[in-house]
Amino acid sequence: MTNKLKGIAASDGVAIAKAYLLVQPDLSFSKSAISDVAKETDRLQNAIDKSNAELQQIRDSAAQSLGEEEAQVFDAHMMILSDPEFTGAVKQKVTDEKVNAESALDEVSTTFIGMFEAMTDNPYMQERAADVRDVTKRIMAHLLGVELPNPALIHEEVVIVAHDLTPSDTAQLNKKYVKAFVTDIGGRTAHSAIMARTLEIPAIVGAGSVTTDIQADDEVIVDGNNGDIVVKPSAEEVTKYRNLAKEYADQKAEWQKLKNASTETANGVHFELAANIGTPKDLDGVLDNGAEAIGLYRTEFLYMDSPELPTEDDQFEAYKAVLEGMKGKPVVVRTMDIGGDKHLPYLPLPEEMNPFLGYRAIRISLDRQDIFRTQLRALLRASAFGNLRIMFPMIATLQEFRQAKGILEEEKAKLVAADTKVGEIQVGIMIEIPAAAVLADQFAKEVDFFSIGTNDLIQYTMAADRGNEHVSYLYQPYNPSILRLIKHIIDSAHKEGKWAGMCGEAAGDPIMVPILVGLGLDEFSMSATSILKVRSLMKRLSTEDMAKLTDAALNVSLSNDDNIKLVKDNVK
Ligand code: PEP
Ligand code: MG
Repeated sequence: MTNKLKGIAASDGVAIAKAYLLVQPDLSFSKSAISDVAKETDRLQNAIDKSNAELQQIRDSAAQSLGEEEAQVFDAHMMILSDPEFTGAVKQKVTDEKVNAESALDEVSTTFIGMFEAMTDNPYMQERAADVRDVTKRIMAHLLGVELPNPALIHEEVVIVAHDLTPSDTAQLNKKYVKAFVTDIGGRTAHSAIMARTLEIPAIVGAGSVTTDIQADDEVIVDGNNGDIVVKPSAEEVTKYRNLAKEYADQKAEWQKLKNASTETANGVHFELAANIGTPKDLDGVLDNGAEAIGLYRTEFLYMDSPELPTEDDQFEAYKAVLEGMKGKPVVVRTMDIGGDKHLPYLPLPEEMNPFLGYRAIRISLDRQDIFRTQLRALLRASAFGNLRIMFPMIATLQEFRQAKGILEEEKAKLVAADTKVGEIQVGIMIEIPAAAVLADQFAKEVDFFSIGTNDLIQYTMAADRGNEHVSYLYQPYNPSILRLIKHIIDSAHKEGKWAGMCGEAAGDPIMVPILVGLGLDEFSMSATSILKVRSLMKRLSTEDMAKLTDAALNVSLSNDDNIKLVKDNVK
């Protein structure tokens, strides 16, 4: 086997560490009759005890590295383990029916999960189904003598190797020990990749078969700048990549000097560089990287990090912390964008053939107004503490925008009537659905601003799933078709005296930035870790030259590749 593997470069940097395989083991078993009931119940009790001890350890470790709130989910798991209605029922089944513990556990847990999932009018109880599933998996692993991966228990430097990482898996990674990750599947704009950039750890996604090509504890080099993975490297390879890591660190130190500089082109035109965040914890990175604003706060992570729907007060505190932390600089908060690849264990969504085309984002908010109004009230109350802007995700029609804005106005009127202080708030939309892009001239009359979500806009325009590595060649931000849509959006905003920003990953892409400067984009919002690199690039550009280059990119070039060449030939 060659020791070199290739994937999609998803987050910059070079790391060398031992592999930690985050792979679910095979938990299949067959049902069998038993003769020694006492022995079987002992075996079961032993598995329960081991699960309990393990959960206690995970809980303590999660509390230390991630915080009390994140650790609470494991308390719920331990409660189930000690609940006689659950584990008692499993023992009873072993005793009464003389069946092996695995099948008794499976049958009892299936009954419990079915019961909880049926409680559609009680989201709190519905959420317990996911807990029962998790606890069952843990006991089952101990019964079968196989090991479950426990990322919360990692206490040495590792490279995570996984088939895929969900956004919530990624949120649990402790940056102190997790030096990089590589996955079999996924694309550059999948949320795990975006989070890797925020965490500032190198990542490679869509690498094909890393979970079979790499064994636990193999030494692995991850070059997130180029998408190269080297397994069990030679001494020369280690030296080569250590040098590359050093070069990258030196380059970053150079960029760091621009932290307090203003963002200006060579001919003195200012552009706003903003950061994308997922939680108030990301604020340190925002300030360290000299962001001038927050251009996208993905509030769904607040919902994903919580064991149940976050209360209005919990949300208020989070929004207020971010607004105060930014000291009057603009903060664009996007209302909840759940659905697609982002799920809430306690809010079961319908099974869908095409989740990215389904029940998500503003569509859920307009349908579940109880959730939406709570979020809007928290935002309105927080607006008194800084410079808040609100935007709605996945807007397809003017009617959706009007309805969402109408609900915001209703909540605002109620708060004002109750003498609650509410600040001046700009209200805008994300443009990430081609229908809204095409109709941008009409939207521009009603919104205060646009923020272009290229991650979704490109996937919907090209009809290519952003998380599917088999079609990742269609992620073509520089394709003239995409550029013409973007031009129309920016020009439409300007015609109505409004501003246009971009918060998709393309805003921080060194090939795209010169084109966007030429198009006159007002605000560029990106992973905080890209800001200084882009500030350094902008200093070398002139808006006049970029306007000419952009004209060619839209009207002469015929492909994404033509435009890569155009920019590389003209921007040094
Ligand atoms: C986008 O679609 O470009 C965007 C910024 O939103 P998200 O990546 O969260 O879908
Ligand atoms: Mg989006």
